[in-house]
Amino acid sequence: MKIGIFGGSFNPVHIGHLMLASYMQQFEGFDEVWLILSPLNPLKANPSELIPDLTRLKMLEIAVAGVAGLKVSDIELSMPRPSYTINTLRYLAKRYPRHSFRLIIGADNWKIFSQWRDSEKIIEEFGVTVYPRPGYTIPTIYDDNVDVVSSAPLAEISSTFLRKAIARGKDMRFFLPQGVENFIRDNNLYK
Ligand code: ATP
Repeated sequence: MKIGIFGGSFNPVHIGHLMLASYMQQFEGFDEVWLILSPLNPLKANPSELIPDLTRLKMLEIAVAGVAGLKVSDIELSMPRPSYTINTLRYLAKRYPRHSFRLIIGADNWKIFSQWRDSEKIIEEFGVTVYPRPGYTIPTIYDDNVDVVSSAPLAEISSTFLRKAIARGKDMRFFLPQGVENFIRDNNLYK
C-alpha cells in the first residue's frame, strides 16, 4: 500500500488537518494517510503550550475513529527525542516492508524543509508531496521525487487559533470534529 505520512503536534487536531488528510487519501492516490503524532517539534517556538502527548493522541483517535483510510500512529512517542522525520520514515519502512511511505507537508513546512534533518534523504528515499498554504509560495522547480498538489481544498485554521479561541470561551464546534470538541470541553483543556 502507498501510505501518506502527515505529521504534526495536533494540539489539537482540527478540521483543517482532517480535510487535508481525507482529501489526499481519497483524491491523490494514497491508500491510507497516517497521522503521526510528534511529541515535540524541534523547530517549534513555544513548547510550553503543548498539552500531554497522550491527550493529543486521544483526540486524534477520536477524530479518525471508524474512518476508512485514515490512521493514527503513536510511533514517535517511543522513539528517541527530539524525533526526526527521517528516523520515523526509516523505522516505518523497516517495520512495514510491504508498504511505501511518502511524506505530506504544507508549503509552510516546505519553506523550511532544508532545515529538517537529512531533508535530501527524505526526498530521495521516500518522496514528498507538498500542498499549498496561504502566504507561502508553492515550489515551481523541484526534485523528481517532490510532487505538488495545488488543488487541495483547505480550511485555513490553526491549532494556535483554536487554543486561543477556546481559552476565550468561544464556541468552536464547527472547527473541530464533534467528538474532539466534546473531549476538550469534558476535560477542560486549553483553558
Ligand atoms: P499550531 O498552530 O499549534 O502551530 P497547526 O494548526 O499548524 O498548529 P500542526 O500540528 O503544527 O498544526 O500541523 C501539522 C501539519 O498540518 C503541518 O504540516 C501543518 O503545515 C499542517 N496544517 C496546519 N494547519 C493546517 C490547515 N488548516 N490545513 C492544512 N494543513 C494544515
